[in-house]
Amino acid sequence: MTEKPRKATASTQSMMRIFTVPEAPESTLSKIEHALSEDLAGFLTQSIVALEKPLGEIEKDFQAYDIPMEPTFVSDYTEEMMQNLVAHSVHTAAPSFIGHMTSAMPYFVLPLSKVMVGLNQNLVKIETSKAFTPLERQVLGMMHHLVFGNEASFYDRWMHSADHSLGAFCSGGTIANITALWIARNQLLKADGDFPGVTSAGLMAALRHYGWQDLAILVSERGHYSLGKAADLLGIGRQNIVSIPTDANNKVDVAKMRAEAERLTAAGIRVMAIVGVAGTTETGNIDPLPQLADLAAEFQCHFHVDGAWGGASLMSSKYRYLLDGIERADSVTIDAHKQLYVPMGAGMVLFRDPKLARAIVHHAEYILRRGSKDLGSQTLEGSRPGMAMLVHACLNIIGRHGYEILINNSLEKARFFAGLIKADPDFELISEPELCLLTYRYVPQQVQQALSAAIAANDWKKVNCINGLLNELTQVVQKTQREQGISFVSRTRLQPARYQRQTVTVFRVVLANPLTTEQILKDVLAEEQLLASQQHGLLMKLQAACE
Ligand SMILES: *Cc1c(COP(=O)(O)O)cnc(C)c1O
Repeated sequence: MTEKPRKATASTQSMMRIFTVPEAPESTLSKIEHALSEDLAGFLTQSIVALEKPLGEIEKDFQAYDIPMEPTFVSDYTEEMMQNLVAHSVHTAAPSFIGHMTSAMPYFVLPLSKVMVGLNQNLVKIETSKAFTPLERQVLGMMHHLVFGNEASFYDRWMHSADHSLGAFCSGGTIANITALWIARNQLLKADGDFPGVTSAGLMAALRHYGWQDLAILVSERGHYSLGKAADLLGIGRQNIVSIPTDANNKVDVAKMRAEAERLTAAGIRVMAIVGVAGTTETGNIDPLPQLADLAAEFQCHFHVDGAWGGASLMSSKYRYLLDGIERADSVTIDAHKQLYVPMGAGMVLFRDPKLARAIVHHAEYILRRGSKDLGSQTLEGSRPGMAMLVHACLNIIGRHGYEILINNSLEKARFFAGLIKADPDFELISEPELCLLTYRYVPQQVQQALSAAIAANDWKKVNCINGLLNELTQVVQKTQREQGISFVSRTRLQPARYQRQTVTVFRVVLANPLTTEQILKDVLAEEQLLASQQHGLLMKLQAACE
């Protein structure tokens, strides 16, 4: 460590230098880089470090609102950041961090990210991204092939064609879903005779022209909240996302969706799109995609599949049948930053028909000229980084067979964990893992017996009372587990059929980190059991409620 305080001064020269001269190898920056990569390796092998400092305390390190007048030495700045930022970051790559879709990354991603940032290509236009644009189109082509599996001639013809696109690369599933529904809207309300289309005339004029009262989007009640944002932005309105109930396995009830589509149509409301979820965020289940494709064909509407999280499972030849029907979608969302192990900021929406994106094409004079291959003319976002390079790297370095192993192991680990939960008399599995996501809760054996008896006796008031207390218990156990920092699971609220749709708080686990061992899973249950046993007050109340 160097002596402090030191004073740096601003000069043209020093400002020039920070863009040109790299720090000496023994600098703090390189030490930090070294420490970081060591730390990252540590994240992979060690458990989550305790987050001793509460959020309120950490906020105090980020209180200053004035931009410093004078510059700071890079070494001084980075040293401080190591203490305040890195040390208190969430160790998402830890193998016992199994609560979210963000997990470990391959080691090569870090140095490659540096290359990407260093080149600083802007994918909005060819003039700033010559080699990156074809690379991104290739990545979209590879993913398109994974989903739709067209012939070689299809890719030869369309992959690099200026007026076509096999998909759009974007920052994540949210933008991908918005893009898909934007296309669906523009496609439905397209130019027609004198009417210039919704893009020019706006939604109200478009509805008047086509004679519809309103538009609707049908999706399972487990649909992702990004669809709500899309409906809001597109002027369709959140309440016109019609939420369809799911069956006991969290899959959308297609009969109910058909009934709803008929009701809407009779009321003059045009069904604009049907969205199937391939891997719901909360339970990981997949909607019956072939039936949804049939329904979309029947109502002549756009069929979008949200596979932001689950789409990567297509890499597994063993389990890809679970997503059968996805190839009939008009558009498919897949996030590379979830199960493809790419860092955040890598979403994609793929189009079955390479002409589909014409519905949103935008041309401008200084860039995005007609006939140019500028990707910006067919994307919602403007300036974009070369994230596709990292997807390209992972697809090549890991390969189909590598992903097959990773995905199969995750799915099988989830099945193993479900088995542990079912074998333990003090836990209740709430949703079976279809992919590598499952939900469960801690319910002591006697309480489970009391619940079963109350259900058999149709005593729903008692069931509700017990579930209310269990919800409190699950919440406090999950919070304490997170604060202790040894392991992390997330929590959500579901309405299981078994409890007549009473709201139940559950632990939610996503098993994507390849370094999560079976022992860690056993330890997670043991830790939760221990934490629950310390909640004497709640356990007493539970006991009383069971009598
Ligand atoms: C994660 C997710 C999204 C949103 O993706 P972001 O990358 O967070 O924007 C959308 N749909 C589903 C099913 C998801 O799991």
